[in-house]
Amino acid sequence: MWSRKRSKTTSSTTDSTTSTTPGTTSSTPTSSTPTNRQQGTSASSGTTTNSTQRPGTSPARSTTTTPATSTAPQPTDTPKPPVDGVDVVLTDLDGVVYRGRNAIPYAVEALTQAASSARVGYITNNASRRPVDVAEHLEQYGLTVDADDVVTSSQAGARLLTTLVPQGATVLVIGGLGLTSIVEEAGFVVTASADDSPAAVIQGFSPDLGWAQLAEASFALADASVPWVATNMDWSIPVERGIAPGNGTLVAAVHQAVGRMPVVAGKPERPIFDAALARFGGERPLFIGDRLDTDIKGANDAGIPSVLVLTGIDQPKQVLAADQRSRPAYVLRDLRGLHEPYPVTIRSEDADGTRRVTVGESTVSMRGHVVRAERVGDDDLDLLRAGATAIWDSGLAIYGLDVDPKLYGGE
Ligand SMILES: [Mg+2]
Repeated sequence: MWSRKRSKTTSSTTDSTTSTTPGTTSSTPTSSTPTNRQQGTSASSGTTTNSTQRPGTSPARSTTTTPATSTAPQPTDTPKPPVDGVDVVLTDLDGVVYRGRNAIPYAVEALTQAASSARVGYITNNASRRPVDVAEHLEQYGLTVDADDVVTSSQAGARLLTTLVPQGATVLVIGGLGLTSIVEEAGFVVTASADDSPAAVIQGFSPDLGWAQLAEASFALADASVPWVATNMDWSIPVERGIAPGNGTLVAAVHQAVGRMPVVAGKPERPIFDAALARFGGERPLFIGDRLDTDIKGANDAGIPSVLVLTGIDQPKQVLAADQRSRPAYVLRDLRGLHEPYPVTIRSEDADGTRRVTVGESTVSMRGHVVRAERVGDDDLDLLRAGATAIWDSGLAIYGLDVDPKLYGGE
């Protein structure tokens, strides 16, 4: 499923053999099931339209078309590629550029093409690796990447520290070289002991962390005036042998001991998006990710139009059930779609209240809580896009809907 039925120009795949590195998102506190993600407002109304609109609001009675998000580009009647006019492309790594040891098909070619007309930045919650390490890893897949093209949650965390304690302050670092080196570069004095009376604590993942380091954090945080920064709150990380506890799990251990929570720098929180925008500038950014609850939610909160690519974690069921804050502007099968015209969305409504959404050759109808594939068409991705728009427009909770399984690849 999710292979396109009509023929398209294809490019060769890349199959590199770089090992998986700990520190990327595997799961987060918000699950992505189709039964708990939907929230919104009242159902839409209107006559024949040709537009999409902000998530959860009533569609405008207009003849313009834009992707369905509050951060979408300006309305247009002409299908345009998602990268059209974009000057900064920000992309997640795991599930977008690579998966396990292998590059994801078409990702390297598409990002290389994007780099010819935009700055490309690589955004990672991984705090255990230095930007130069991440850049070298990405170059093994055939990308051209400098350390300065990489924004890590360590960098976002250090940037956050500068707003909390004075320059030159002593900071207790609970983490690996990927964090200590960044905190030092930011002008702080790094310590590993609470006995040095640190002005702040910053915590990020390292495979070498143990009880002794977590205890140091607890001792320092006993002083309620000491700020605590976590690079990210990913509960788990994928490693070669399976799924292992991530930074969020280790932060939770300290939290249980000290009774308070840190401020968080990584996705889906804003600091890492703000750090990227501050670094790369640009008037028209675009964020690419594979997770609705981190990448897309974070980009939406930061006001950056977003692409969900279905090569990683979240799949059609999760797209249909995406909550209002986690809806992407674009849904792509793979990154070739960055450079292909994105189909327009056409809405209409019958006198009896039946609403229809057409994308390409696919039409989805919705009457009350019943959502049906009225015309399957020649591309199941267009059917998903139409179904998502119909459901998102309704403002109804996904668990109360009767959804045609064809919309998410079922029979
Ligand atoms: Mg990812």
